[in-house]
Amino acid sequence: MAVDLHIHSNVSDGVYSPRELVVMARNRGVSALALTDHDSVNGVPSALLAGKELGALVIPGVELSTDIAESEIHILGFCIDMTSTYLHEALQILRERRIVRCEKILKRLRIVGIDIPLSYVLSLGKEGFTGRGQIFKAMVKLGFARPERSFGDFGKYLGKTGLAYVEHQGFSPEQAVEFIRACSGVPVLAHPGAQIPLYVIENLIHMGLEGIEAYHPSHNKETCRKWLKFAKRHGLIVTGGSDFHRPNPDGSLDLGGMTIPDEVVMELIKRWRKTMPDKPTPAF
Ligand SMILES: [Zn+2]
Ligand SMILES: [Zn+2]
Repeated sequence: MAVDLHIHSNVSDGVYSPRELVVMARNRGVSALALTDHDSVNGVPSALLAGKELGALVIPGVELSTDIAESEIHILGFCIDMTSTYLHEALQILRERRIVRCEKILKRLRIVGIDIPLSYVLSLGKEGFTGRGQIFKAMVKLGFARPERSFGDFGKYLGKTGLAYVEHQGFSPEQAVEFIRACSGVPVLAHPGAQIPLYVIENLIHMGLEGIEAYHPSHNKETCRKWLKFAKRHGLIVTGGSDFHRPNPDGSLDLGGMTIPDEVVMELIKRWRKTMPDKPTPAF
């Protein structure tokens, strides 16, 4: 069976609806998938419903954005309890903080002569979601940036060292791990690449991190092997996915396009049955 445990819908910065994604996945022979929108689980109910109708295992997920000094850290949460009121309340606060961050970024852009109203950026996102993706889209639409990656305009203005970059206003990486555990989920470090210092990851393991995303389009074979070894050494589960947002012009790294062993899903399901809400809800 083909699996894909990292997919974004138009509830955050992807282009397809959750239902369309499940249909696409089934058409490509993917039988287990996780919807992992940025700071939102609003697409999960319709993905679960479509999964039931079409015979695909849909795992409720989320991807939380956090910052450390050296880098950005994304924490995936799988098998989260969708009935948790704390989950929805906390994500609502994150949504509001995303808007505050967006306002700060727009203020910095104004200093360099790029004037974009907040209302315009908000109109480009669904359900009040806003992020750098929407800001960049607004910049392109209004002629302030070129969409082609080769020009590097995203990095120049909105990348971690970009002119208008503002840190995420949400969780710290530790809080993200705690939050996912408090929602009965399995916290997994997303696409660690080569930037995140090992001591940071070891600290997160201490906080309850349970897995690492070794299979990711940004990892070459060597990086993937490195994290597989790391996972084994620390008793972490391994996950993987395409991090699909929209079709690539060259058709590469598409939905369901990563080769990921079936055991990955088996391990996750085992944890799903085991995880229990055993922690008080953390404040942040
Ligand atoms: Zn990510
Ligand atoms: Zn992602």
